[in-house]
Amino acid sequence: MSNEYNNNKEKKITDFADLQLRGLQWTVKHACRNSSFYAAKFKDAGITPEDIKSLDDLVRLPFTTADDLKSGYPFPLLSVPHHQVVRIHASSGTTGKRKIMAYTSQDVEDWTSFFSRCYEMAGVGPGSRVQIAVGYGLWTAGAGFQAACERAGAMAVPVGPGNIDMQCQFLQDLQPDVLCCTASMALLLSEEIKRRGIRNKINLKTIIQGSERCSEAMRHAILDYSGAEHLYDITGMTEMYGPGTGIDCHLHNGIHYWADFFIFEIVDPETLEPVPEGETGELVVTTLRKEASPLIRYRTRDLTRMIPGECECGSPYPRHDRILGRSDDMIIFRGVNIYPGQIDEILSEVAVDYPISSEFDITLNHAEGRDTMLIRIEREPDADSSQDQEVELMIRDLIKTRLLVSPEITITDYGALPRSERKSRRIYDRRQEQYQPA
Ligand code: ZN
Repeated sequence: MSNEYNNNKEKKITDFADLQLRGLQWTVKHACRNSSFYAAKFKDAGITPEDIKSLDDLVRLPFTTADDLKSGYPFPLLSVPHHQVVRIHASSGTTGKRKIMAYTSQDVEDWTSFFSRCYEMAGVGPGSRVQIAVGYGLWTAGAGFQAACERAGAMAVPVGPGNIDMQCQFLQDLQPDVLCCTASMALLLSEEIKRRGIRNKINLKTIIQGSERCSEAMRHAILDYSGAEHLYDITGMTEMYGPGTGIDCHLHNGIHYWADFFIFEIVDPETLEPVPEGETGELVVTTLRKEASPLIRYRTRDLTRMIPGECECGSPYPRHDRILGRSDDMIIFRGVNIYPGQIDEILSEVAVDYPISSEFDITLNHAEGRDTMLIRIEREPDADSSQDQEVELMIRDLIKTRLLVSPEITITDYGALPRSERKSRRIYDRRQEQYQPA
């Protein structure tokens, strides 16, 4: 590495740091002056905007949570007068009230501007035809994908979600080269393309998918059945404007996020302390320019890790890993934080070459003074048991190397594990009931 390279690298990072500090100082001052919620919160924490002198002062600020959004319904975190709000969006809200977020016209402009970078990073621009198969309406997805597509100079085909017949017809008639949808829609549509035998009649090159986890096996199937060459993961959530806050580049080696609009921290969800760089924890977000509903240290509950170093694609934007799951699902085993998503990821890798399915469960037991972990994994339907022992050893070694714990692994027949609707029921923690004082 030449000195010149090092100097450049130094400069890129410094540029974001300056911008981030100015954005942080503006956000804290703006929120403190204009939002009674934030003013009260800072007062309780004994901190004033003038105390923010460097990025290191970020950790002195109190966290904001989903409960704060609920209690502020219907205009949580509002930091501008109502007449400056030009739009609202709402999340689907699986429990209780929806999260409603407000936008000024500058917020809409900023969102469109950084979202269009996502399209550019995926090679989408003038001449591209983009079939947008996400929900329109209150959700952020439709409005976000649509506005940014037009900003990128591409042609939008706003089909919306569902309606498989129409999706297939437009894929043939209009020859879109780009499809935007959720991961489950991408899989459904790809299977349908295969079933109808229309792969050679369509022109899909790029799929941009968001908001759901997707196993390696699903990725392979989507690309194989649809004939597309690239599958991009786009990130975001209603609280952070919507989708478009980051995307992977053509090397697919982590999600580049827009560090000139957000500061990302990764914290241990138990202690709320920052984790060492590169370790998995909960993503905490601070916005740098958001006017109507700014976020200050907002706990997203999403689990990921920062990817250290610069990407070989040359982008100056830093990277985080794919979203591994939710912090609510975390288990602590012999002092190590473990997320089912990490195990899911390892099993997905093994499943590419060996006959195991995506069905697994984890049982934590306590016997003779120590905790043990049993992971049961189902074989693929119709596969025989001849490779079981080899695969069990391989999975145990992978988990030991990556997660620093030694579970017991058992491969079972297909269909042997109980099926449940909620994924979190994959974990059976029996340690407390089995505990006996010495
Ligand atoms: Zn890259």
